[in-house]
Amino acid sequence: MRVIVRSSAIHAAGVFALDRIPSGTRILEYTGEHMPHQAADDLYKDRPYTYLFGVGDGANVIDGYSMAMYVNHSCDPNCETEEDEDGHVWIQAIRDIAPGEELAYDYYLYDGEGDAPCTCGSPNCRGTMYSPDEIKRRRRREARASSNGEQKKKRAAKPASLNS
Ligand SMILES: [Zn+2]
Repeated sequence: MRVIVRSSAIHAAGVFALDRIPSGTRILEYTGEHMPHQAADDLYKDRPYTYLFGVGDGANVIDGYSMAMYVNHSCDPNCETEEDEDGHVWIQAIRDIAPGEELAYDYYLYDGEGDAPCTCGSPNCRGTMYSPDEIKRRRRREARASSNGEQKKKRAAKPASLNS
């Protein structure tokens, strides 16, 4: 079973099957340095993109450096990730994948800053790579922030910016 990295309609580069991959196949291991989540956040605090994969309860991450880190997110994925008993993370086919198909799994992002818009193009696209639970948490936070924001705006009425 062979896979290649090439340019993707979803995002930048992606990983594509060259051969048929039967459902259940472990395709790639998500290899990289295992480190505490906080250490990774400090390391990458100024970078817009990171290739971090949360493992276990999310306290640790894998700082990806292999082909697996190029596998894109999709809301209608053909792969999932599986963590084995030794803490290795595998990207595994959840259905038969045809030659030429792009591999994708659902990232279910649960933290991070800013938007993580999804461009997977599937009919059931959530519009974001955040997990459904994280979307709910963010909506609650936004609702709180916007009610505070209204009050701040009234108090902060100032002359137009000097920079303009
Ligand atoms: Zn999507």
